[in-house]
Amino acid sequence: MRALLVEDDDMIGRSLQQALEGAGWSVDWVRDGLLGESALADGGYTCVLLDLGLPKQDGTALLRHARERGDRTPVVVLSARDSLGERVQGLDLGADDYVPKPFELPELLARMRAVVRRRDGAAHSLVGTGALQLDLTTREVLVEGRREALTAREFALLHALLERPGAILSRDQLEHRIYGWGEEVTSNAVDVLIHGMRRKIGQDAIRNVRGLGWRVSTAP
Ligand code: CA
Repeated sequence: MRALLVEDDDMIGRSLQQALEGAGWSVDWVRDGLLGESALADGGYTCVLLDLGLPKQDGTALLRHARERGDRTPVVVLSARDSLGERVQGLDLGADDYVPKPFELPELLARMRAVVRRRDGAAHSLVGTGALQLDLTTREVLVEGRREALTAREFALLHALLERPGAILSRDQLEHRIYGWGEEVTSNAVDVLIHGMRRKIGQDAIRNVRGLGWRVSTAP
């Protein structure tokens, strides 16, 4: 799962980045509204954490532009501006949730999971096909009635594939979802990850489509 964090406060940004990474998120952190807008336009984010008071362009403008472009990435607004009027404005502009600062981390993480689930169209915490499901709360995969624990990267990989069962994702698209900026990615990192995953979920669960990428098998 890949999060875009748009926050100009160094202390809040650093502690949020650490906490999110500890919870299995891969995090890109930008400190102004214009960088935030261009990062979001590049795509690939599971969720955006958006501060409102930002240099260069404020969070409400970023959000309005994103929704006008048709970008439906879930956005959780983080802001000290917790007056009713601003909360309503944020939600009207297309924020999925609003968490006033200061906030408790477990609550923020739960709200992020909730907006991601809603985007995935599920009221519960499972996404995926009948044969292969991912539990967003426990970060386990359910396969043939078994539950298997996943590493953070395995989880990110499978989540990307299960968002659109049957669709082919290229190596670039998968790397984009699994790794953050500045992370060293070896040329065979995705292959190694998938090799390890197949031992947990079965050889045929993730299919390679030669020259194009990978997809999850949609057959039961
Ligand atoms: Ca700020």
